[in-house]
Amino acid sequence: EARWAQAHQASDTHCPYCALQCAMTLTPASGPADGPTADGRPALPVTVAPREFPTNRGGLCQKGWTSATVLGVPDRLTTPLVRGSDGELAPASWEAALGFVAERVRAVQAEHGPEGVAVFGGGGLTNEKAYALGKFARTVLRTPNIDYNGRFCMASAAAAGNRAFGVDRGLPFPVTDLGGAQAIVLLGSNVAETMPPFVQHLAGARAAGGLVVVDPRRSATARLADDGQGVHLQPVPGTDLVVLLALLHVVLAEGLADRAYLDERTTGFDAVARSVAAWWPERAETVCGVPAEELRRVARLLAVASPSRGGRGAYLLTGRGVEQSTQGTATVTAAINLALALGLPGRVGSGYGCLTGQGNGQGGREHGQKSDQLPGYRKIDDPAARAHVAAVWGVGPATLPGPGKPAVALLSSLGTDGGPKALFVNGSNVVVSAPNADRVRERLAALDLLVVCDVVPSETARLADVVLPVTQWAEEEGTMTSLEGRVLRRRRATDPPGEVRSELWILGELAKRLAPEDVPDDAFPTEPAVVFDELARASAGGPADYSGLSHALLDAHEAAGGAGLYWPFPSSSPELSGPRGGIPGAEPDNSGMGGTPRLFLDRFPTPDGRARMVAVDHVGPSDDVRPDAPIYLVTGRVLQHYQSGAQTHRVPELERLVPEPYAELHPQLGFRLGVPDGGRVRIASARGAVVATARWTDAIRPDTVFMPFHWSGAGSVNRITTDAVDPISAMPEFKVCAVDVTPVSPE
Ligand code: SF4
Repeated sequence: EARWAQAHQASDTHCPYCALQCAMTLTPASGPADGPTADGRPALPVTVAPREFPTNRGGLCQKGWTSATVLGVPDRLTTPLVRGSDGELAPASWEAALGFVAERVRAVQAEHGPEGVAVFGGGGLTNEKAYALGKFARTVLRTPNIDYNGRFCMASAAAAGNRAFGVDRGLPFPVTDLGGAQAIVLLGSNVAETMPPFVQHLAGARAAGGLVVVDPRRSATARLADDGQGVHLQPVPGTDLVVLLALLHVVLAEGLADRAYLDERTTGFDAVARSVAAWWPERAETVCGVPAEELRRVARLLAVASPSRGGRGAYLLTGRGVEQSTQGTATVTAAINLALALGLPGRVGSGYGCLTGQGNGQGGREHGQKSDQLPGYRKIDDPAARAHVAAVWGVGPATLPGPGKPAVALLSSLGTDGGPKALFVNGSNVVVSAPNADRVRERLAALDLLVVCDVVPSETARLADVVLPVTQWAEEEGTMTSLEGRVLRRRRATDPPGEVRSELWILGELAKRLAPEDVPDDAFPTEPAVVFDELARASAGGPADYSGLSHALLDAHEAAGGAGLYWPFPSSSPELSGPRGGIPGAEPDNSGMGGTPRLFLDRFPTPDGRARMVAVDHVGPSDDVRPDAPIYLVTGRVLQHYQSGAQTHRVPELERLVPEPYAELHPQLGFRLGVPDGGRVRIASARGAVVATARWTDAIRPDTVFMPFHWSGAGSVNRITTDAVDPISAMPEFKVCAVDVTPVSPE
């Protein structure tokens, strides 16, 4: 009985999907996990129940509710697979699979040097796995070529945030602070579908008529604003930057800026003021299509809500819609400039933030998966950072490689002369999720070795030479960092099936076979709490300082009623320190808010303590409309699916609701092109063409089509998106390209 009780103890953990990291409790099934249920599906090894937590307040979206299904899907990978001489993937022992990988890696590196091997990580990996992967690339493989799919997710906001504030933490304030705001501007973010429980935090702004949504589609989120509770601005795709330049123009022209704040807390204002002088609303309207009076209305609405003018607070929040652009860093910079002009960042109850998407998109970028960064969010070309991290790793600083290629450049170089010939992919499905995906598929085919660690046979895994089955969320211990920099515990609730192993174990086994002699024998522990302790030491003194955190402290904080601890949490932090400041009108956060829930209250972490305003200007999309491609294509997500759909397509309840890709277009466009509602439509860009079912809707601009990106095959929209990147962040321009749209005749 005691053993049964222990085995069936409920575990408090968090959702495996997005960065809101909704809290849930998992209860192990009382029946056999591998027996079929009445409808023939495998029994779920755990059941999911939502848990009260500040971010989700007891809510879960459909993905969260059904997340346990992915643990027991029929095609779950349960044993290593190695491609044989017949070209087929066949089961192999771990010894054989790891021996094969090690032998091929040695051969590639003997011929092409250390950089002949590359690593591509994921924003869903725990902090511990992300850290170990970066360490493995740099100490065992000695390759500079590591990056991750977070480059597709929030790189532009990270670049702009680092430049302006000296640090990038998605939301530099608790998400619950939003509840007290009088105005919230959502730029390119459809939270009503991507993270539905988040909508609760918009209630205060909606009640005040202050929710502003900037999106070329009247998305589910935009509909929250255009029913009298706010404003929906519907710009031409690729012109969000113009909207922001015009808003700042109005703020300055009408004397609405917070001059005292600008003088005291910022630099660069004069150049920014000059740069927006030419963007008066009537001119902006000719480019972005948003009526000049609407631009004036939003600028005034924001100013009235700003604390310097006696308002209850205002926020500007960016998402992928404005960030996934060749001018993504500039657009986020313009949003930050506007926020600074109104005196918002670093004021309790106001600010700028980025709504990170992937479950651990925030932590994934802090611990060394990015091509230019070391753990602690340190720059890899900073000699002091290299010395510190090398000392923690027990190797010489000179052995650490320098910056590598960012994601798109890395994927484009695979198998080319001078490019990597072997690739490890962990937690990413690049042949569906990367831009210009057919080209990525070609590059993968040119490799000598592709090793994929995954939980299911994703489209990328099916191309691999070796597939290694790994644990997933409910089968592992670790930590995740939410979109607000809140470090959370992920807890194990069930055993992994078959021969499944954790990436920590796999990296340790590969290190035994491949590590140079100077790498300590115990460099890759398998216990997540031990890895976290090392991660914390490696982060000490960096912008994302975790050095005072541990699994034990996080557990103790939670047991005492807390809800995660915010970084920076240096080792000098008083344990479980209390909140700083109060928020008029905000509902109280019951987390105890240990660590540093709000950044920038006293100073910005820049050399002079001031935020840096940077002048930017509109250039336009890299692949703009033209006579042979006169329609804009924008991409995005639907509520029921997550990223490439590798998990959610395997959940029958979700798949039934949205079983296939589709293309939204305005009835006017449908009439003009002869594409009926429900008919088949061909959408062609300079990269190729896809075919999908047309859905008429007046929620989209008549010059634009929208496709969700969760599918492979004929309707896989990333086959035609552009891989042009932002020059600063290297983030690809998923969100806009030019296409031709034609009906497909019924056969
Ligand atoms: Fe999971 Fe995000 Fe849905 Fe919450 S909003 S249940 S974290 S997918």
